[in-house]
Amino acid sequence: MATKRDYYEILGVAKTATADEIKKAYRQKAIQYHPDKNPGDKEAEEKFKEAAEAYEVLSDPQKRQKYDQFGHAGINDMGGAGDFSVNDIFSMFGDIFGGNNPFESFFGGGGTRSGAQRRVRRGTDLRIKVALTLEEIATGVEKKVKVKKYVPCSHCHGVGSADGSKGDTCPTCKGAGFIVSSHRGIFGMMQTRQECPTCHGEGTIIKNKCPYCAGEGIEKQDEVITIQIPAGVMEGMQITVQGKGNAAPHGGVNGDLLVLIEEKEHPQLIRDNNNLVFNLLLDLPTAVLGGSVTVPTLDGEAKINIAQGTQPGKVFRLRGKGIKSLDAYGRAVPVGDLIVHVGVYIPESLDKDEKKLFETLKNSPHIVPGNKDKGSFFQNLFQ
Ligand SMILES: [Zn+2]
Ligand SMILES: [Zn+2]
Repeated sequence: MATKRDYYEILGVAKTATADEIKKAYRQKAIQYHPDKNPGDKEAEEKFKEAAEAYEVLSDPQKRQKYDQFGHAGINDMGGAGDFSVNDIFSMFGDIFGGNNPFESFFGGGGTRSGAQRRVRRGTDLRIKVALTLEEIATGVEKKVKVKKYVPCSHCHGVGSADGSKGDTCPTCKGAGFIVSSHRGIFGMMQTRQECPTCHGEGTIIKNKCPYCAGEGIEKQDEVITIQIPAGVMEGMQITVQGKGNAAPHGGVNGDLLVLIEEKEHPQLIRDNNNLVFNLLLDLPTAVLGGSVTVPTLDGEAKINIAQGTQPGKVFRLRGKGIKSLDAYGRAVPVGDLIVHVGVYIPESLDKDEKKLFETLKNSPHIVPGNKDKGSFFQNLFQ
């Protein structure tokens, strides 16, 4: 994944490109690298797929935003652009070329959309929750989780038969996995294809079933799965780990592992999008006289110099001390700041000496509001 090219670069457009510019750029690339024009050219096919993947992401405002924020890691993990087959890409042409598809042959009688394809069973998706601290979210983290899931049966190795045989060809569909029936419709003779009811699309029938898995080819087991969580995720986001869900019966395709993100509360810092907020309460003497205080950050403490006469409501911004995010190259870079809101603690109870001190202060000229400019130009003028 790390070696993936930048989607904007693939399409040759600027990061600020409009939806129309992206569409136009993709159209150009699709025509240039289309397999029809480059038969047998593997490199062209790769470029064709690459462009389709880039377009699939950049043409979807939501995916584009995630890509801009998290780079490839974000998109892959969000279940965005998976592995494309050339066939998948053709289905995207509808909205690109409208009614004027230049590659009609591919859609018409062409053999690309293979008819005689047996259904490949897919395992079900697994859903888990992962609770993360702000520290983990800020930089991204690798999490290992143990899940109970279906894996290929250890006795028959997923085949489903007791003797390891592959099973016999289904007599109903002769191994095709589907049956075709013809009937007369309003447009003439119509053919419909249905999943074979005998073998449920597999094309084979296992007679001597594995007793351990009852012929299903799967069993439940614990598995430890490593999940890469990109920096900057948020509560409620879902990360898709492809192929880490349940195994399918009889050697089909694995489902996905869907990871729901939960955010643990930080004892001192509050998250506000990519920024972090800390409410700093100063004692009176420090607010009045100035001084140095420390504030918590996600990587240790930071020192802040408090100027003499600092008012409640003052805001400090510690740049780059907020949440990080992945750039297009997969590096975690700061995208947020730590915002420090200053408050001043007013003592709620005082002893006798302290009380005296404040009473003395009460009559002191600089304690009363509005006397800030005592001795200034105006004061002197009217004295
Ligand atoms: Zn088995
Ligand atoms: Zn069958």
